[in-house]
Amino acid sequence: MDPELRAVAEAAKGFMPPDEGLALYEAGLLADGPLLEIGTYCGKSAVYLGVAARERGTVLFTIDHHHGSEEMQAGWEHHDPSTVDPAGRIDSFPFFRETMGAAGLQDAVIAVVGDSVKIAEHWTTPLGLLFIDGAHSPEPAMADYEAWEPHVNGVLAIHDVFEDPTDGGQGPFLVYERAVADGFVPKTACGSLRVLVR
Ligand code: SAH
Ligand code: MG
Repeated sequence: MDPELRAVAEAAKGFMPPDEGLALYEAGLLADGPLLEIGTYCGKSAVYLGVAARERGTVLFTIDHHHGSEEMQAGWEHHDPSTVDPAGRIDSFPFFRETMGAAGLQDAVIAVVGDSVKIAEHWTTPLGLLFIDGAHSPEPAMADYEAWEPHVNGVLAIHDVFEDPTDGGQGPFLVYERAVADGFVPKTACGSLRVLVR
């Protein structure tokens, strides 16, 4: 991946280590059809996937309500006070725009702002890749999988998969196990990123 774009991704706020980001980019290159991400936050992973989308001649849709997950609210582990807007609410959207501007990816990355399951109810476009990195507790993570899985034609990537509960929450791991049971075949793993295909 282009070193300047890697630098933009690495400088962005967010939760995607560089090696896992590159593995995500590689997964994106396998996609035949548009890519879709659940969990934009400030656009860090969207740089890796957006570059892959552009190289594949397609686009990345990236979904977030931009008000943060539970663990990002004030007093929680992943809170960042600089993301709180004047009304006292988290708003990661301005940071997303800044990241896409720095990467020059505005044409390849399309923000969809709202609740992921609600958006899925109205979605009809088949996807070459789905990346699940939204809410991480078991119920909403599984709801994202169930709502979006029918649209996947190819690659499924899941972030924050921790087999051992002492390493992290079990939501994404339960989704991973469910995907395997549904016939997705594990292809690559890097850190907590799992890439599957069908
Ligand atoms: N991929 C990002 C990190 C995502 S953090 C990175 O590379 O840094 C998870 C994001 O999911 C948060 O920004 C949160 O607002 C969003 N989210 C959680 N539940 C959601 C839902 N139901 N609909 C849309 N977005 C959601
Ligand atoms: Mg993550």
